[in-house]
Amino acid sequence: MPEEKKYLYGPVPSRRLGRSLGVDIVPFKLCSLDCVYCQLGKTTEKNLERSDFIPVEAVLAELKEKLVAGLQADFLTIGGSGEPTLHSRLGALIDGIKKLTAIPVAILTNGTMLYKPDVRADCAKADVVLPSLDAGDEQTYQRINRPHTGLTIEKLVSGLCAFRDEFSGQIWLEVFLIDGFNTDNHQIAKIKEAIDRIRPDKVQLNTAVRPTTEPGIKALDPERLRAIAQQLGENCELIADFSSARQGGNFQARAEDVLSMLKRRPCSLSDISAALSITPNEALKYITLLQQQGAIDSQNKDGVIFFSKQIAD
Ligand code: SF4
Repeated sequence: MPEEKKYLYGPVPSRRLGRSLGVDIVPFKLCSLDCVYCQLGKTTEKNLERSDFIPVEAVLAELKEKLVAGLQADFLTIGGSGEPTLHSRLGALIDGIKKLTAIPVAILTNGTMLYKPDVRADCAKADVVLPSLDAGDEQTYQRINRPHTGLTIEKLVSGLCAFRDEFSGQIWLEVFLIDGFNTDNHQIAKIKEAIDRIRPDKVQLNTAVRPTTEPGIKALDPERLRAIAQQLGENCELIADFSSARQGGNFQARAEDVLSMLKRRPCSLSDISAALSITPNEALKYITLLQQQGAIDSQNKDGVIFFSKQIAD
């Protein structure tokens, strides 16, 4: 019998946050954007309305159980199968977490909702906030992030600036670079202008090393990536792949479950998460490990990524 679907997963290794316990608080796939590089699949309906999607009390009860069982993690990372700031009780969730544990809280967000004062107030309860910024001009924003019609690049950047003014914790801004989309000199200069306004503590550069929803999304070569990092300033770093050496036995065992599924037939992320009763985010972590190990292949069919076991030569 598969385990019942839960709100917490891990701890799983994270490139940016070490051993991270994932807290998944929005349904698959609820988001304000539809990024061309999204690994979760297409956003079917873009949303800007906050709602109480899942019960905060149930998440806290599950966390309590994990803590009693001796949970060890570097971060509790609030994310989800979409955009977590769309949950209207995010602030209550963080208050509840802080009463239970001293493990720091991180939020992975696309940043688009930070123009709303209530979203900023909720996010300010966390220790680290990791928003995204992939463009400094409207045209590039529309092309890469395909936002809800109520959003603009200026709304995103001013929301991030307002949040910086109100938040004394760490802001680690991720910039996702795609060859031919946001990497010419003019686009990088516009991104730099926006970063100078936002004043994040760190800028973290990423690129499309994993399969993406849309075909034709190409990773930037490491040399160009390093040159852009230099252009963007001293606090800019490349996000290196997390070494599989630090991944525990349980993590590897779950990855094996995914692999045995893929031995039988190619599956999408949703197939894997439904069959193993895990969140798409958790499934993505095992997929990433199996890809790093060269154990699986992927194929994009009409915008859905299918994974299969690699055939040995
Ligand atoms: S913000 Fe994140 S979840 Fe939403 S579409 Fe972009 S990559 Fe996917």
